[in-house]
Amino acid sequence: MEIENLRLEVLIDREKIAKRVKELAEEISKDFENEDPLMIGILNGAFIFMADLVREMKVPVEVEFIRVKSYCGTNTTGCVEVLLDVPECVKGKNVVIVEDIVDTGITMNYLLNRVKNKGAKSVKVCALLDKPSRRIVDIKPDYVGFEIPDYFVVGYGLDYNGKYRELPDICVVKN
Ligand code: 5GP
Repeated sequence: MEIENLRLEVLIDREKIAKRVKELAEEISKDFENEDPLMIGILNGAFIFMADLVREMKVPVEVEFIRVKSYCGTNTTGCVEVLLDVPECVKGKNVVIVEDIVDTGITMNYLLNRVKNKGAKSVKVCALLDKPSRRIVDIKPDYVGFEIPDYFVVGYGLDYNGKYRELPDICVVKN
């Protein structure tokens, strides 16, 4: 597939994503059987994953969002800009942070600390994708959809300079 001169190759198709999202929701639901979680999606990248994940949950959930910016093109900027901060309602709650992808770990490390500092009772991380080979900060998500190699991916919410979020499959950008 070629869009605007970028060559895209499907890495994980929509059927595989849907199956794995269901499994993740079942696993999280089991772990939170007696303590309904507050699920916090990280905008913009996690908006589709979050919407699919919460609809597969078997326990009641609360939903909030945080918005951060940490990337420009395919390069990490190494800094995190908070555009919509952690809501006050995290105080005393069992939080599950829902992220599209953990790459260097810088963003997740920052968010984990920020949510903990706001008084969350517990904090777990659910990442659709994990690129452990790129890690700079030692972060291990509690729930991972797919571990992937050091590829830059788009689709299913993930963008390249604001584009391709609407693609239903997760695709690799080829040069
Ligand atoms: P980290 O702070 O872990 O390096 O990066 C986290 C953020 O970088 C993710 O939330 C995501 O927005 C962005 N990111 C990292 N890898 C990729 C990738 O392969 N594709 C896209 N579209 N974004 C990525």
